[in-house]
Amino acid sequence: MANLYPQFAQLPSQSLPPSINFSQQQRPPAESPPQPLLPPNAVAVTSPSVIGVTPTLQILHSAAKNTATINLWQCPPDETDLKNVSPTFLSYNTDFCSGKVRDCSSRVEEVNDSLDSLSLKSNLTISVQIMKSRQNEGKHVSNDILCHLVGRCMEENNLAAGRDVYSLIVGSGLESDASLGNCVVRMLTYFEEFKEANEVFSKLVKPDVITWTAILSANVKLGDYNRAIDLYREMVEARVKPDGHVFVEVLKACMGTATERHTQQIHASIIEHGLEHDAFVGSSLVGLYVKSGTFQDVSIAFCRLPNRNTVTWSTLMFGCIYHKSGKEVPELFEQMQQEGAEPDKGTYVCLLAAASDTEDLEQGRQVHNQILVCGASVNSYVGNALVDMYVKCGCVEDAQVVFDSLFSRDVVTWSSLLLGYAEEGRGQVAFQLFDRMQQEGVVPNEVTHINILKACSVLEQGHLVHEYMITHGSLLNVQVGTALIDMYLRCGSVSGALFVFTNLSQKNVITWSTMIAGCVEFGLFDDALDLLQSMQDQGIEPNEITFLSLLKACSLQGSIEHGRQLHTQATNSGLGSRVAVGNALIDMYATCHSLEDARVVFQRMPNRDVVSWTSMLKLHAHHESLGPEGIQVFQQMKQDGIEPNPITYGYVLKLMSRTAAIEQGRQIHAYIVETGIEFNELIINALLDLYANCGGLMNAFVAFQRTQKKNVSNWSALLMGCAQHRDYSSALGVFSNMLESGLKPDGVVFLCLLSACKLVSEGCQLMKSMRDDHGILPTLEHQNSMVDILGHAGYLDEAEDLLECNPSSSNAVGWTSLLHACKVHIDVDTAKRCFNNVVVLDPKASSAFVLMSSVYSHAGMLHSGEELEARRRKEIGWKKLAHSCIEVDNEVHNFRVGDKLHCRSADIYAKLDALNVQLKKEGYAPRVDLVLGPMSKEKKEEALCGHSEKLAIAFGLISLPHGMTIRVSKNLRMCGDCHNTSKLISRIEKRDIFVNDTYGVHRFSEGVCSCDDYCYQIFKGDVLQVKR
Ligand SMILES: [Zn+2]
Ligand SMILES: [Zn+2]
Repeated sequence: MANLYPQFAQLPSQSLPPSINFSQQQRPPAESPPQPLLPPNAVAVTSPSVIGVTPTLQILHSAAKNTATINLWQCPPDETDLKNVSPTFLSYNTDFCSGKVRDCSSRVEEVNDSLDSLSLKSNLTISVQIMKSRQNEGKHVSNDILCHLVGRCMEENNLAAGRDVYSLIVGSGLESDASLGNCVVRMLTYFEEFKEANEVFSKLVKPDVITWTAILSANVKLGDYNRAIDLYREMVEARVKPDGHVFVEVLKACMGTATERHTQQIHASIIEHGLEHDAFVGSSLVGLYVKSGTFQDVSIAFCRLPNRNTVTWSTLMFGCIYHKSGKEVPELFEQMQQEGAEPDKGTYVCLLAAASDTEDLEQGRQVHNQILVCGASVNSYVGNALVDMYVKCGCVEDAQVVFDSLFSRDVVTWSSLLLGYAEEGRGQVAFQLFDRMQQEGVVPNEVTHINILKACSVLEQGHLVHEYMITHGSLLNVQVGTALIDMYLRCGSVSGALFVFTNLSQKNVITWSTMIAGCVEFGLFDDALDLLQSMQDQGIEPNEITFLSLLKACSLQGSIEHGRQLHTQATNSGLGSRVAVGNALIDMYATCHSLEDARVVFQRMPNRDVVSWTSMLKLHAHHESLGPEGIQVFQQMKQDGIEPNPITYGYVLKLMSRTAAIEQGRQIHAYIVETGIEFNELIINALLDLYANCGGLMNAFVAFQRTQKKNVSNWSALLMGCAQHRDYSSALGVFSNMLESGLKPDGVVFLCLLSACKLVSEGCQLMKSMRDDHGILPTLEHQNSMVDILGHAGYLDEAEDLLECNPSSSNAVGWTSLLHACKVHIDVDTAKRCFNNVVVLDPKASSAFVLMSSVYSHAGMLHSGEELEARRRKEIGWKKLAHSCIEVDNEVHNFRVGDKLHCRSADIYAKLDALNVQLKKEGYAPRVDLVLGPMSKEKKEEALCGHSEKLAIAFGLISLPHGMTIRVSKNLRMCGDCHNTSKLISRIEKRDIFVNDTYGVHRFSEGVCSCDDYCYQIFKGDVLQVKR
């Protein structure tokens, strides 16, 4: 859930550094704290005592563009200077201007009188009253007095008086006066009466740039960014030339609307007016691009700044964090220091935010130390950033220490710490904090609510929080609503989640995705798909998370049709090229057994990561016939320079085991040891599998000995190795060691033990011990293992009884297993029943058809066999193609039936012909009677000769040094004929031959197989006197 909320969603309220808060600029006059005595477009001149007049008279109206400041008190101005001074000013100052200006107005005396009386009484309300009565008497009240009064209203925080002054202005017929209007607009903005400010502004005639700036600022503060931008356009149309202050305001408005179009237009105007290099405008522009542009735009805007100061550097750093490039912040900080800019609290907050963002605890601690070393006091912004950093880095204890040391804590501090405990699963502590913060008078906000919802682990808690929110009338916005839905889903109440979801008035794509993911999690696949439809009907486009959940649903449900539709949608929406979506598609197609689609997706992916490659390797590892291709995939992965992860190695080793590539497997094992890659369960088990399958059990034991912490799964893997070799006594030894080590066996352990044993009495004993001594109830798999044991031992009726007394709707495996036994024991009647049971469950079970035909041919019922084979061809068409692998010189060679594609094909067949002659001398008679189909005896012999394992063994004989063991892996069970010839070959060639098939491992040596012909008793005595 955490990653559903972008980092920034909380930034503006929680951790926006003070010095780069975009609403606080350092210079704009319209916004700097009001200095009530001075109208904004006036310049104060010091040393009023020189002239001994009231402070109000220290007002200089400089000309529109703040030209020369004339210090009239030190030297009388000449006439040119005076031209730049406003007439109003001159009217006050005639007396002091050495008579150079003769424009003495009759008002001066009057004005001075009133100002004197004002300054004497210095009571605002009374002053306003006096002015009112003057106005009522029909006397003139001057602009400057009105300006002065407006200033005092701000100084004394008296809005009511301010409104009275405005009515005075209106009464004097001055409501359209730009300079007065400016004072009033500024005052109303100061009192946050933005709407009134707009009304006053609308009555002004020819407002100047300063007034325009004030009204822009008012609308920005009102949050009406579009009006601010419209006002800017009006201003340009009115031919008022914008200055830097105007652009700072307009840029803030752009930031509010965050549309790229505005940004570019305004940027163009800034360049046009030659203000691009103005430090403040530049800094605002950087800030704007931080929010609406790309990180590249930010950097470009930053590079153009003529002077960079701490604020602009911090803005750039903030830009990095905003654009998820927090890792670049420390480097920028270094550059900043090199350029001599001193870090301030805002910079530290940025650095801490970057450490939070990258979850770099080390970096975060360094910044903390730096703050302590330089002795900067920790204000609430820095404190909050510290708490946030420790929480994000998973160190809630350190966050608590900072929290306790803070002088003041606000709702942000409490909410952050609370989140820390919630995410650590310490919900109780989070709830205590929630209570405490309220006792201390801190009112929880939406972020607090979202965080406390994360602390709920059981439904009761969740209900309580939800009730609390209802009784306190808490705001239920999209984010809080989504957090509630998430809470209900986490606490297992899909109905609660749906209730909130249905009643939530506003939903965004995250809300929809959360609900869809929840439905998938609860197995409500149809509902998930319906939600997708409604979401799109409402014009909300699914995002990556939506696709990932729905693709997972299709995987779980095996619904390739829906999967394909989603694939098309994802492609159309442009999300199909995302790595995560590609990986999910591969997974979906792989689970739906559409290997070709999975491959196509993989090949079309513009970028592939280690997960994509690993998914492909997993796909090949799980497909018994894809071993050799899987190895090629791994080689391509290495060529592409993708570094495998431990999971990749697990699947690669599994592939090596499947293709008997023990040499390459050993090399990978050595590499894993050398590089210190973590031995995860997958790797350990794949190694045990590899050594047990391709080598002797001894190798597996050695590998196991080296495993440090052994868990039940590792022990099971070793037991599986014993089972592969049908070595029950070793298995029992392993089992007792495992019990001694203090581990408890599980069902899988017993499954391995059952697979290792051959005797019915031992099997029965195991089943009893599992149930009585270890309290494990037998599953279908255990039962099928028992069927296998009974069947091989010739207890076909008992095996059939066992299958029938436990009727499971889908036990095709059990019936197929018994069908195998029927072939060994040539029991046509039982076989027919098995076959019918399998075909009812799975009419396309090709292997059952092949087995049944084989039973017929073994029983000499060739006609029935051929009939069934014809039916199979007609009804199913395909059967699993056999293939065998052998590793020679670090390369896996794969052979199919009758394969003539191998480069040494001619040599291989020549070797087989030579062997055939010798085999026949040894008394070998090919079982041509078992080969079905209309063929001559020679053709049938040839067909037997071309079995893939024979080809692989022959290739091994001609390529591997004399005496070296031959290791072959086959994806199906070896046929009786190949089993027989392999025994003879091992004697003739004086070679050990390992063949690893679906039964397990056959080790042929000196004419005998380690399996004691377990699956091939039909041949007992046919050729060799095999010990039994
Ligand atoms: Zn064969
Ligand atoms: Zn064997």
